[in-house]
Amino acid sequence: MVKSIQAVRGMNDVLPDQDYIWDFFEQTIRNWMAVYGYKKIRMPIVERTDLFVRSIGEVTDIVEKEMYTFLDHLNGDSLTLRPEGTASCVRAVLEHNLLYTGPQRLYYSGPMFRHERPQKGRYRQFHQVGVEALGYSGPDIDAELIIMCADLWKRLGISDVCLQISTLGSVESRKLHRSRLIEYLEKNLDGLDEDARRRLYKNPLRILDSKNPKMQQIINDAPKIMESLDKDSLKHFEKLQHILVDQGIKFEINPKLVRGLDYYNRTVFEWVTERLGAQGTICAGGRYDDLVEEVGGKPTSACGFAMGVERLLALILEGGKEIPDSVPDAYVIHQGEATDEAAWKTVSYLRDQGLNVILHCGGGNFKAQMKKADSSGSRFAIIIGEDEIKNEVISVKYLREKVTQIKVGLLEAAQLIKGV
Ligand code: ATP
Ligand code: MG
Repeated sequence: MVKSIQAVRGMNDVLPDQDYIWDFFEQTIRNWMAVYGYKKIRMPIVERTDLFVRSIGEVTDIVEKEMYTFLDHLNGDSLTLRPEGTASCVRAVLEHNLLYTGPQRLYYSGPMFRHERPQKGRYRQFHQVGVEALGYSGPDIDAELIIMCADLWKRLGISDVCLQISTLGSVESRKLHRSRLIEYLEKNLDGLDEDARRRLYKNPLRILDSKNPKMQQIINDAPKIMESLDKDSLKHFEKLQHILVDQGIKFEINPKLVRGLDYYNRTVFEWVTERLGAQGTICAGGRYDDLVEEVGGKPTSACGFAMGVERLLALILEGGKEIPDSVPDAYVIHQGEATDEAAWKTVSYLRDQGLNVILHCGGGNFKAQMKKADSSGSRFAIIIGEDEIKNEVISVKYLREKVTQIKVGLLEAAQLIKGV
């Protein structure tokens, strides 16, 4: 036997017995997005590497360590498997001039790729649902995005998630904060790890995003961006809080929230749970007013977020929400060549009636076929034997109730199964 080939580490199969929960999630997302008037956009999985370098920022974990980048050997282009969706979404919106008709409320979903150390809740191929509102500058849209999330948690049966918010201010206030931060970190040089020292002058804000436990004290005591905040950003932040309080959304201000991507400004937020262990952030986002210009468009305010689907699904399962798996309406068994034609006719009729029907394939005796019918989870088995053919009927057998078996015509069978 040849050696079997395994999946790439950190890239998971979703097996059919797990599909019901993905299906429930995807349908919930579709309904939820329709309720708030967001339209779906689908972007390619591969983009030019430059797009991510320019938008996410050169000195970030994603760009420095986590991207799957390769050369297109035909023309030498550097391409990258998308590590996130915002940059692609902005690129697509600009490329197709969507902002020409006004602001856009959009969402996307699909796999993202990051070369991280695989562990529970952290994979190399994982899935995100991302929501982006482009062309909106006010705190009202920030609030809308946050309120929508709170609604989604309810729809998914998720509880125990906390909202953390903060603000990064304007480009100018970030500059002021940056110089204060560098001054402080220079004084604490001994406590910085290699990554942090390298980033000290290139991107000191990223140091605050470090997960190195040895640096947490230094990070905790670092100058806070709030202390350097400009007036307009403060007003924006206060208005957002006002709306959230008004709408009954609980939150915590976390001044350490800086996010791992460079494009954010003003509002940033994360939804966090303690139920999943170390990987507790299920959703994260914020405002990115300069990104559209950075990617080549006219200055356009925007705000968005992305959620980690695997982490959300784990939380849904943990919350114990009952999600029924779909079962066929009927399972058709038949024996002997003489019954073939009637079996095909029966399944085709019932399917035309809108029923989900499995036709037993592969032969076998009635007992073995009945076993399959039973394990399909269906409520009904339909039996077609020589006796049935002779009398031009089919037998409908209840698999889950005491009533045993009745002989009926096709129309009656369909009505019986539909329960009308
Ligand atoms: P983390 O701090 O956990 O690395 P991040 O800040 O890198 O997260 P974002 O880029 O904001 O994450 O992505 C949004 C969400 O996508 C995260 O909150 C998380 O739920 C999910 N996510 C990010 N990276 C992974 C991964 N490697 N595997 C699974 N989910 C992920
Ligand atoms: Mg990360």
